Amino acid sequence: MIIEEAKYFPFALKLKTPFQNSLTTFTERKGLILKLTNELGNVGYGECSPLPGFSEENLEEAETSLKGTLEFLKQTEFENDFSIPSKLSSVKFAVEQAMLSLAFQRDTMYWIRKLGLVNRTIPVNAVLGFDSLENILSKIQEKIELGFDTFKIKVGREDPYDDFELLEAIRNTFGYDIKLRLDANQKWSSDEAIEYLERFKDYIIEFVEEPCEFTCSTFRTVEESHIPIALDESIKSQQTAELYIKECKAEFLVIKPMIAGGIFSSLKIIEAAQRLNKKIIISSAFESVVGKSVLVMLASLTNHNFAHGLDTPAFFEGDLCVDTYGINQAKFSFNPSNYPPKFNLPF
Ligand SMILES: [Mg+2]
Repeated sequence: MIIEEAKYFPFALKLKTPFQNSLTTFTERKGLILKLTNELGNVGYGECSPLPGFSEENLEEAETSLKGTLEFLKQTEFENDFSIPSKLSSVKFAVEQAMLSLAFQRDTMYWIRKLGLVNRTIPVNAVLGFDSLENILSKIQEKIELGFDTFKIKVGREDPYDDFELLEAIRNTFGYDIKLRLDANQKWSSDEAIEYLERFKDYIIEFVEEPCEFTCSTFRTVEESHIPIALDESIKSQQTAELYIKECKAEFLVIKPMIAGGIFSSLKIIEAAQRLNKKIIISSAFESVVGKSVLVMLASLTNHNFAHGLDTPAFFEGDLCVDTYGINQAKFSFNPSNYPPKFNLPF
């Protein structure tokens, strides 16, 4: 395959409410859309949007690297290997997505077989950040009415009693028909985590993401906790993921392909995890409709029915174009013959 034209375009999507993490607060999501055109005139799009506070690279670094990659793409003849000189996860994600899109257009059946894609229904969880107890309860009610039954609750408030009170209120209000998972975003020491998780266990928790400040403390917590643990921020690359799959007893790994090395690294992580009966939860890094389409494809390759963290459209005021992978009753329907979806973009 020969790339005749390679360009990229910046975008910004407004969030309905500001998103806050430990390093920054942002009210819009910025990124780049790569557009590749091959010798047949087919077009493939890919998204490059490092997540502030989570990605190793920032948007300026990603843009410099992507710009340098455009010339490489135009000078190289590609078969089925889409490796590029850039090591940046968000740049690899964008190039691999765009190249894979072109490859699918060229030979859909080959790629469906190579990746092992089948029709799948993919359940999605809702996410509840820090907010007043009343607001959290009313958001859960709204989401239940939309068909959601799995809720990820952010914990790690300054006073842990506030977390316990919240869980108590959720179970008292909604009972035990809904599934709850927690995300502490590396807030606690292992002593705190072990103590708090013991108290949380009465609320029947599916798993807790990243309980501890340091990955080694999480390793210790996994040994003692009665609640399954998920790794998320600890995974920065395919190498760390494969190491933790082998060395850590955590049952779940939350993979954000925009951060964990791109699409092909994520495929390898899924295979490595499934060989050892670990469960991969595919999670968005607040991608637009373009990047999200690959995440749905990757989630279709996991071998379990736990919900994936792909409810990002809920955070945006609008998106780059119509979303052909809309969530219906808290589920995506993935049909490999419709992959990749057509994006009606203005560039
Ligand atoms: Mg998390």
